[in-house]
Amino acid sequence: MKAERNWAANLRYGAERIARPRTPDELRQTLMAGGPVRALGSRHSFNDIADTTGTLISLADMPRDIDVSAETVRVSAGVRYGDLAPVLEQHGRALANLASLPHISVAGAVATGTHGSGDRVPSLAAAVRSVTLLTASGDEVTLSRGDVDFGGASVNLGSLGVVTALELDTEPTYRMTQEVFDGPRWDAILAELDAVTALGDSVSIFTAWRDDESADAIWVKRRISSTSVGIDEALLTGLGARPADGPRHPITGVDPAACNPQGGEAGAWFERLPHFRMEHTPSVGAELQSEFLVAREHGAAAIAAVRSIASTIAPLLHVCEIRTVAADDTWLGPSSGRDSVALHFTWHPDEPGVRAVLAELERALAPLGARPHWGKVFVRAGREIRDLYPRFDDFRALRDRLDPDGRFRNAFSRRIGL
Ligand SMILES: Cc1cc2nc3c(=O)[nH]c(=O)nc-3n(C[C@H](O)[C@H](O)[C@H](O)COP(=O)(O)OP(=O)(O)OC[C@H]3O[C@@H](n4cnc5c(N)ncnc54)[C@H](O)[C@@H]3O)c2cc1C
Repeated sequence: MKAERNWAANLRYGAERIARPRTPDELRQTLMAGGPVRALGSRHSFNDIADTTGTLISLADMPRDIDVSAETVRVSAGVRYGDLAPVLEQHGRALANLASLPHISVAGAVATGTHGSGDRVPSLAAAVRSVTLLTASGDEVTLSRGDVDFGGASVNLGSLGVVTALELDTEPTYRMTQEVFDGPRWDAILAELDAVTALGDSVSIFTAWRDDESADAIWVKRRISSTSVGIDEALLTGLGARPADGPRHPITGVDPAACNPQGGEAGAWFERLPHFRMEHTPSVGAELQSEFLVAREHGAAAIAAVRSIASTIAPLLHVCEIRTVAADDTWLGPSSGRDSVALHFTWHPDEPGVRAVLAELERALAPLGARPHWGKVFVRAGREIRDLYPRFDDFRALRDRLDPDGRFRNAFSRRIGL
């Protein structure tokens, strides 16, 4: 197989081949041919979670259906959020949240517990009402909200089968603004973290950890409604934060053309919630990413722990983003069972250097029960990961029932003891 890589090109897939079925029958035949298999989404994960030694199955050539109903939408698994959002908008519908980029597939994003930001908004998996998948033996299984095993269905790490369709909750469309404030002071942020993350419906704090006194910026995204109140100016003043004098990219000095409009200009939900526009390369491209989620009550301590090793981190860092994620009831979601603060790191593409720093970073965050983002780079393994999830054994039992021969197992799942 020619060198097939993930989006960031830090990983060369070890699979023997990539199959691109065009119909459900071809997909079933591919699965029933035997050997190790794994589904491939839009390749935006930074580790080997999507890899296999056998056949990678890309759904890119399968029909991409989007069926909008009154309060839900049913999508083929390969549909990307950036394809789905404008269709929902045409029907006057919306999703509750989006990640920082619209380029990712729904099935792949949900499988790793991908999230955006918002005190009251859970991960993208929380919108899933049902998951339809083909198991290794070619049988179709649908798990729906209310089923006993549904908790394992959405954040499934690609381990249960090939997801072919998902049904998602929708809500009436809404408009939003996005504003950026430069230079909030850390002492004030840490003292008022709950108030800072409540400045809008979706809030991100960005810093490259080069300045010990202040973060780089706070990005505040707010829904416009008849009951909207103004932003908390007194809090912003107390933080020492100044309205940005022009558009910003999360990474200081990078052209903000790739970013959705800022400056308080109103726009549709899907053109404000993601930082990046669909038609541009998100982030920087030459990068690695890691992210760790702690229970909300440990948020300030986790930020302080990172700050204490800032001088080690900063040389390898493009930027760090701090967000919030509301709890969900998935079994393996990094924010399952607990409202969370997420600490994200966009690194320079120096994998050995990043892994060395991650060992220190993960040691610092471990006492706070930090859970790694499943689709990003992390170094802890085995029991240290499993013990973070009270329902891990339930998920493993579900996996064993749906994939008794272990055809969806891969190096990643073995590393975490799955
Ligand atoms: C620039 C950039 C920005 C990002 N921003 C965010 C962010 O804001 N928030 C966040 O949480 N994450 C973010 N991520 C991480 C990203 O959302 C996750 O890695 C996500 O899983 C990628 O989805 P994908 O479709 O590319 O999946 P892939 O990386 O292709 O696969 C991920 C997993 O999903 C499984 N999978 C894919 N399709 C199927 C299917 N049909 N059936 C069964 N399993 C399947 C794969 O087997 C694998 O286990 C970002 C990544 C990048 C590159």
